[in-house]
Amino acid sequence: MGEPGSGLPAERGKARDDAGGVAAGGVAAGGVAAGGVAPGGVAPGGVAPGGARAPGHPAADRRWLAEAVELSRRCPQSSTAFSVGAVLVDAHGEVIAAGYSRAADPRDHAEEVALRRARDAGASLAGATLYSSLEPCLRRASRPASCAELIAASGLRRVVIAWREPPVFQPGGGGVWLERRGVTVVEVPDLAERARAVNAHLLGA
Ligand SMILES: [Zn+2]
Repeated sequence: MGEPGSGLPAERGKARDDAGGVAAGGVAAGGVAAGGVAPGGVAPGGVAPGGARAPGHPAADRRWLAEAVELSRRCPQSSTAFSVGAVLVDAHGEVIAAGYSRAADPRDHAEEVALRRARDAGASLAGATLYSSLEPCLRRASRPASCAELIAASGLRRVVIAWREPPVFQPGGGGVWLERRGVTVVEVPDLAERARAVNAHLLGA
């Protein structure tokens, strides 16, 4: 005589964000998996569908992170915030959701968009990895919850980034903060230059 199904209030009423037209899954799910990801030849030897796409394999990590960097190129330009791309991938190498900075709102951060879309879709994040072209922010001016806090609260246990947040707008430090909370943070420095180039106008060099 109970009401077993009343535990998920947060999923209601948020679905409209998805109508924003950015194609959360579309971007990554369609284009990426098809095989021809990286202009620079990210996937050595042709990544087989299945196992080698799974987060944790170095080639897979690099491939998904390269996709996040590609997404960052879609960000509406800003002189007051970084352009970042983020892709959430499950343990089997399937894209859960993706996002990029200012995707639906000028205050949007990439990781936040991906997490929001995953939540709205009711997706499980168990065993998932978040690929972000930039270290998740620890502090931000635009909204109260930083991406590092959102990630910690989401239950994600693994994050892969291309570079650490430089102290242009905020001090950075999201990666270390996450590691202190037991989240594994993997840096792939050879993609840093590609990720940084998207933000060259903010770096003054
Ligand atoms: Zn952020």
